[in-house]
Amino acid sequence: MSNGPIELPADAEIAGRGQPPMIDPFGRHVSYLRVSVTDRCDFRCVYCMAENMTFLPKRDVLTLEELDRLCSAFVDKGVRKLRLTGGEPLVRRNIMWLIRQLSRHLGTGALEELTLTTNGSQLARYAVELADCGVRRVNVSMDTRDPKRFHEITRWGDLDKVMGGIDAALDAGLGVKINMVALKGVNEHEIEDMMVWCHDKGIDLTLIETMPLGDIDGDRTDQYLPLSQVRSRLLETWTLEDIPYKTGGPARYVQVKETGGRLGFITPLTHNFCESCNRVRLTCTGTLYMCLGQDDAADLRAPLRASEGNELLGAAIDEAIGRKPKGHDFIIDRDHNGPAVSRHMSVTGG
Ligand code: SAM
Ligand code: SF4
Repeated sequence: MSNGPIELPADAEIAGRGQPPMIDPFGRHVSYLRVSVTDRCDFRCVYCMAENMTFLPKRDVLTLEELDRLCSAFVDKGVRKLRLTGGEPLVRRNIMWLIRQLSRHLGTGALEELTLTTNGSQLARYAVELADCGVRRVNVSMDTRDPKRFHEITRWGDLDKVMGGIDAALDAGLGVKINMVALKGVNEHEIEDMMVWCHDKGIDLTLIETMPLGDIDGDRTDQYLPLSQVRSRLLETWTLEDIPYKTGGPARYVQVKETGGRLGFITPLTHNFCESCNRVRLTCTGTLYMCLGQDDAADLRAPLRASEGNELLGAAIDEAIGRKPKGHDFIIDRDHNGPAVSRHMSVTGG
């Protein structure tokens, strides 16, 4: 990608509601904000967290009102898709208040999509209310359908609860996509079974390569399964047709001819997708990460709290977007088995 004159993307005019759209130094239009509303979680997935995690002190965490103000400032600057994540977004107290507040931007048309990524443990409780707030689809993370293995991977999770959550979401009319982190020797033999199960229920399945984020209790080289291998293996049995389907995220999709369903691949390691990155990530303390895999960040909490107006905040956001890096440099092999960045996925938000 060149650093030459920036051509505005076609949708730039509708973005920005009177403010200039957010364009990074590589000409990428930032229109997607992921917000980690809490770093806490009721699971301890082996690839995501250590069992004994130290969480952020509550006093450092933005209030729901502050999160609403921050997200709304991004919407004013042209963000069209907002994904709440974590930690587990649905364990944050009063989270539905924030979701209902943010849904006003769906009503005005400023926001195209409000959605979340969840482990599903609380979905049975909230599915109907989420649908009522205009959430149309949710991503649920589920790496196995075997109860014992589910417990081994999540350490604290209960598969029945998650299954109940998925059914409740479907019953409430929400679209569901399952995210499955492909783990060598752990769930790799279950991929086809998971795919058929999902497609039978009209659910898309997305496979994810494990990324080197934060210290965990094991060695990531043991867990890492390149999805290029999985794809080749699947091709022995299934017909995979590349399709241009996009959900705004980094997944590349195929249609599986035999099932009629969609299968996505998120391949930060084997196929870098940074070139088309349209995302930035906000933590629950108001830190903005312009890239999941880089350390550079901007503090938005100070400008947020410094005045009631959004001028300082807007300037801080512009300055941060002006520093969005070209991409990550994740590597996992025997020589690189430590984290690329020290923070966990649960902090930055997956
Ligand atoms: N707790 C929610 C959940 O599990 O869906 C939302 C947060 S979680 C951090 C978001 C996604 O990141 C999940 O699909 C999870 O499997 C994935 N994830 C977590 N750590 C990861 C890692 N090191 N590499 C790849 N994906 C990871
Ligand atoms: Fe919690 Fe999601 Fe991380 Fe699992 S992947 S520990 S559910 S934040």
